[in-house]
Amino acid sequence: MIDVHCHLNFQAFEKDYDQIIKDAFEAGVSKIINVGTKIDSSKRAVELAEQYENLYAIVGIHPHHADKPLHGCHPDPERSPVPDGTGRSEGEGSPGDWIQELEKLAKNPKVVAIGEIGMDYFRYQSNGIVDKATQKEIFEAQIELAHKLKLPLQIHNRHAGKDILDILLHHKNELMNPPGMFHCFSGDLDFLKKVLDLGFYVGFDGNITYKGLAPGEDTMLSDLVKAAPLERILIETDSPYLPPEPHRGERNLPKYAIIVGEEIARLKGLSFDTVREKTTRNANEIFKL
Ligand SMILES: [Zn+2]
Ligand SMILES: [Zn+2]
Repeated sequence: MIDVHCHLNFQAFEKDYDQIIKDAFEAGVSKIINVGTKIDSSKRAVELAEQYENLYAIVGIHPHHADKPLHGCHPDPERSPVPDGTGRSEGEGSPGDWIQELEKLAKNPKVVAIGEIGMDYFRYQSNGIVDKATQKEIFEAQIELAHKLKLPLQIHNRHAGKDILDILLHHKNELMNPPGMFHCFSGDLDFLKKVLDLGFYVGFDGNITYKGLAPGEDTMLSDLVKAAPLERILIETDSPYLPPEPHRGERNLPKYAIIVGEEIARLKGLSFDTVREKTTRNANEIFKL
């Protein structure tokens, strides 16, 4: 079992990441991929990957940070933190700096993809929505970087599936084979088909154990799991977010990737071992682990 998307690089794991990693390996998780969302968290993901043999990193600028990709790159303890969503802060450097920083990080041999990148049109209380044109600009620059470095993509999408597909189709000739994955997949069956037709894999998280629909969605995640071929499914946790039942309300952990695998097996009427073997092979294939 491989957790292809989590954030042990985030502050939530600052104090006990070593124990959390050991617990995950003991529970049967064989590899863990930590994902950056801006320059500083990408840097931290690479640091962790260098520290542990079976840890890997994905680096990139999340659409939430598209207007402030370098934010936190040079932490200044004298300055109080700039709350998310306030736009470019002082000392950001010139707009081109972030892509050079990212390229430097992405050249590390333990970096296996560019992500999490994409578009997000959900209005979050803490973050609002970053200007769509800015999101697109940052997303496209990173697709081009991935092409240059021959890396697959790990895509974040929330309520922006149509625009993401348009952008990917526009850049079709720059995509790897396989092109990458949509992490924390959501959307409807038609969108799933289009994503699969483009060659992408889809990742599922602990929220497939939740009852009912997420805000703004019209298709149950369980129906998407059933419709997606196992040959294209990846397992992830998005720790510390999206803990599966019965751990809702707690901090999510990479060891719960096992629970996600069990739920996929249950929904598809397959054995756990089949799901474990296939999804592990899928992860190795995309990310060349
Ligand atoms: Zn995401
Ligand atoms: Zn994430």
